[in-house]
Amino acid sequence: MDKFEYDFFVIGAGSGGVRASRIAASLGAKVAVAEAYRPGGTCVIRGCEPKKLLVYAAHFHEDFEDARGYGWTVPDATFSWPALIDAKNREITRLEGIYERLLANAGVTLMRGRATLADAHTVEMDGKRITARNILIATGGWPVKPAIPGAELGITSNEAFELKDLPKRVLMVGGGYIAVEFAGIFKGLGPEVTLSYRGDEILRGFDDDVRKHLRGELEAKGIQILRGHQLAAIERDGSALRVRAGSGAPDLVVDAVMFATGRSPNTHGLGLERVGVQLEEGGAVVVDQYSRTSVENIYAVGDVTDRVQLTPVAIREGQAVAQTLFGARPVSVAHSNIPSAVFSQPPVGTVGDTEAQAIAKYGQVEVYQSSFRPMKHTLSGRSEKTYMKLIVEPKTQKVVGAHMVGPDAPEIIQGIGIAVVAGLTKQQFDETVGIHPTAAEEFVTMKEKTLRGA
Ligand code: FAD
Repeated sequence: MDKFEYDFFVIGAGSGGVRASRIAASLGAKVAVAEAYRPGGTCVIRGCEPKKLLVYAAHFHEDFEDARGYGWTVPDATFSWPALIDAKNREITRLEGIYERLLANAGVTLMRGRATLADAHTVEMDGKRITARNILIATGGWPVKPAIPGAELGITSNEAFELKDLPKRVLMVGGGYIAVEFAGIFKGLGPEVTLSYRGDEILRGFDDDVRKHLRGELEAKGIQILRGHQLAAIERDGSALRVRAGSGAPDLVVDAVMFATGRSPNTHGLGLERVGVQLEEGGAVVVDQYSRTSVENIYAVGDVTDRVQLTPVAIREGQAVAQTLFGARPVSVAHSNIPSAVFSQPPVGTVGDTEAQAIAKYGQVEVYQSSFRPMKHTLSGRSEKTYMKLIVEPKTQKVVGAHMVGPDAPEIIQGIGIAVVAGLTKQQFDETVGIHPTAAEEFVTMKEKTLRGA
């Protein structure tokens, strides 16, 4: 008999953990997965999925307005936040059930509770010890708030999904994708929204033209964006909150402050240091290309490793670990050219290099860009503009970056992503016949080139 109870013990039934468990079980391993909260993890319970449902809800605001230009008479629409949250909760519970069934059908044992490591082959749960030949850390991340007085009065995305009432005035703190997405959600559903960001432009890490274009669109929708803005403290002010800003900026009085100021890896108190698993300064688990930690039989995937914090990446990493351990050969995951989206309003889709990254790599690059009013808004009268950009490496003529801000950008860029990952050239883009009339056809008809960089 094997000296271990399980071949594979996974801590965390989120995106990475569920995939790793299922694949390992399908390859014949005896697998258990521990979950401290709800199977499905951040993405399903309080991340991508509920977020996208709220984005749909928020967009109806503009849809009703736009319908008028098409001959519709739309009576004054009313909105119920509790009804939306109830509907969202029902859907999340349905998805959670699907995840539970997927695990059960794969023969994975789901254990409910918080797991910690007692030694390199032993997990502890509720005072019980369970042994496993291999262990996977897939515990995800947790939102962090800045260390300012009164930070406890603010909420994070976790609580935003469960608010009892919709606040009238919201201060969003942060300039990353979650801040920008929730600013759009709140704005579309009614509240006044101010976004406070200490940096000089929102969406650090994205293409600079995309950042600027999106900010302009958000401001045009009435979201007040304060850049170079620092928060000093939050205090209660009757039933509202008074936010004191640094460097002499005026106070803000709002009903809710939401921090979207980053997420830290869930490694605290797990016992990793005790068993010798090396962590980065911020707590992320250090792994090699096969997601193996500094302890031979312990692996880590997903947000807890702080590589690329996206669900499809966690899923791939989880699958690769299961294949490496129980399949025919080791499998690693490439972390380059990962398409991604921001579900802002309008949304962003992006794949490959930003212009700045491409210039750093290749010196000079060819840039093709287009900014136009989407056809739908000719009749709706909305002034929103779509922005598209292709970045081409001059020597090989390969398209090394594609970026878009506008309706359906995430859907369009998913397709363009295949071409960029395949290393197709600008000429091959041009040889592809457009689909008319679409916005996407612009990606195969952009003619005007500018040279940028050295
Ligand atoms: P998680 O999915 O976080 O799963 C970790 C699980 O481990 C959790 O269920 C947790 O309860 C459990 N756990 C933690 N510690 C223990 C323990 N000691 N014992 C037992 N269980 C434990 N990504 C996208 O790709 N697209 C999006 O649109 C998107 N939107 C997002 C919106 C928001 C608001 C947030 C917060 C995230 C979003 N993400 C999005 C990121 C995505 O959710 C994460 O990248 C993904 O969930 C990471 O998967 P994971 O397996 O690493 O961890």
